[in-house]
Amino acid sequence: MSAQVVTRFAPSPTGFLHIGGARTALFNWLFARGRGGRFLLRIEDTDRARSTPEATQAILDGLAWLGLDHDGDPVSQFQGAARHAEVALEMLAKGHAYKCFASQDEITAFREEARAAGRSTLYRSPWRDADPATHPDAPHVIRLKAPREGETVIEDQVQGRVTIRNDQLDDMVLLRSDGTPVYMLAVVVDDHDMGVTHVIRGDDHLNNAARQMQIYHAMTWDVPVWAHIPLIHGPDGKKLSKRHGALGVEEYRDMGYPAAGMRNYLARLGWSHGDDEFFTDAQARDWFGLEGIGKSPARLDFKKLEN
Ligand code: GLU
Repeated sequence: MSAQVVTRFAPSPTGFLHIGGARTALFNWLFARGRGGRFLLRIEDTDRARSTPEATQAILDGLAWLGLDHDGDPVSQFQGAARHAEVALEMLAKGHAYKCFASQDEITAFREEARAAGRSTLYRSPWRDADPATHPDAPHVIRLKAPREGETVIEDQVQGRVTIRNDQLDDMVLLRSDGTPVYMLAVVVDDHDMGVTHVIRGDDHLNNAARQMQIYHAMTWDVPVWAHIPLIHGPDGKKLSKRHGALGVEEYRDMGYPAAGMRNYLARLGWSHGDDEFFTDAQARDWFGLEGIGKSPARLDFKKLEN
């Protein structure tokens, strides 16, 4: 028997639930619900300056209006900081990470020199292979010891096979000098701990996936199935923005749109099932699959939505 499907929606609570986020949530919900799986909600509130409780509430309200129920309580990413740091220290202990004592000035100087010499400006820390006996008692970050040889391959269910040369990746910081974890680490640890099997999200995160793979490999954790969906554009083919019309799902709710119609419309933004334009919720759950997601950006046509 194959493992139960677990998906998640992981919004950053920095504003209302916009159409793009709602569509990501819907795709994850349909995928899980159509397979007897679980759909989890994680609030990515690590950016303390930009995250607000009002935004979290707006996201919860928007999901509730759309009828996208999640299993269990929402997870606060910020609350998991100690666990994220623990994983960084485990990587350090296993030799997959190292302490880097370079100052910001040293890193800037390295980059300037590399630029002037026409070399890659990816930072290469001299501490990567330093003997711990030579470590000063000084502030440091913890960096991932990323492989320099070979390739990282992402088998993406929407984008196909994406290959990144490992020499194009740097040793990313996992823990800052104040001991706080970076976002990239938090996402991987949370997805692993929450048992997420399928990561369905915007393709603006495709580059992150290559870096996140490095953490999965270092921890010998199962890599989830990736599905990076093309972002939504306006009718003019440009990146969706306010000038195209209403972006917040609550605006549609307040205008009196029925949630079922909105769900149908959102499902068709980048996903198709033959010539079917309208379907019941049960049909959407039965029919939805990653193979039906298009490779080019969906276009939001407000006129169609209004008809
Ligand atoms: N918090 C990210 C966002 O709102 C999503 C990260 C992810 O799905 O991995 O864009």
